Amino acid sequence: MDNVKIAIDGYSSCGKSTLAKQLASQLGFLYIDTGAMYRAITLYALRNNIMYRDGTPDVEMLREHIKNIKVSFQRMSNGNMHTMLNGEDVEKNIRSVNVSRHVSAISKIDFVRTEMVDLQRSLAKDFSVVMDGRDIGTVVFPDADLKIFVTASPEVRAQRRYDELIAKGEEVSFEEIFENLKARDKADSTRTVAPLRKADDAVLLDNSEMTVDGQFQFALKLVQDLPAYKQLNK
Ligand code: C5P
Repeated sequence: MDNVKIAIDGYSSCGKSTLAKQLASQLGFLYIDTGAMYRAITLYALRNNIMYRDGTPDVEMLREHIKNIKVSFQRMSNGNMHTMLNGEDVEKNIRSVNVSRHVSAISKIDFVRTEMVDLQRSLAKDFSVVMDGRDIGTVVFPDADLKIFVTASPEVRAQRRYDELIAKGEEVSFEEIFENLKARDKADSTRTVAPLRKADDAVLLDNSEMTVDGQFQFALKLVQDLPAYKQLNK
């Protein structure tokens, strides 16, 4: 029987991973955070001096290293998935402001994307999955059973991200977060390879005025109405 593929794409800090995790947990599907994969490669590049001082990567050096960079996920005892970089748990490190600052410059490199897209497809191969990112509905799974494109106003997204980082004890300013978010939106949607855009057949979900539970219920209903989901639960 075919597995169900749910693609959740959208702008930075729009709440798509919260939604994707909730759906995966409720439905018993695998959750795959593709942003974490690009973040892990970025962390590797930062640690191995593959970044120039101006924040751009040494593409040829990264090309030489790429086959030695192993990104994977490990399920923790509490059920959460952690991102692993060459066997090291980097779940916390990849969420830093410094990684956020450099990730768009890494994620626009064609061979990085080819590697990651192959990995994403192979991880999802035998499972029903909820995958979140920027190009899941357009590139990774153009035939996904359900595509949701999540957005919210830049101010609302920056405030949510700021609150999240402050709660984690990071020293950041709202301005810095707001600028990074706008810069990433721009870089992600204007790059030549797999730019962030809504797939024509994706459902648009603007959650600026929605509660977390409101958006979850909205998305859950979309999944439960899918013929492929009904088939799976026959
Ligand atoms: O989702 P998150 O904000 O963690 O993603 C970090 C970055 O990874 C994005 O700003 C984008 O540059 C890149 N990304 C991507 N394609 C994906 C997921 C993330 O290019 N499918």
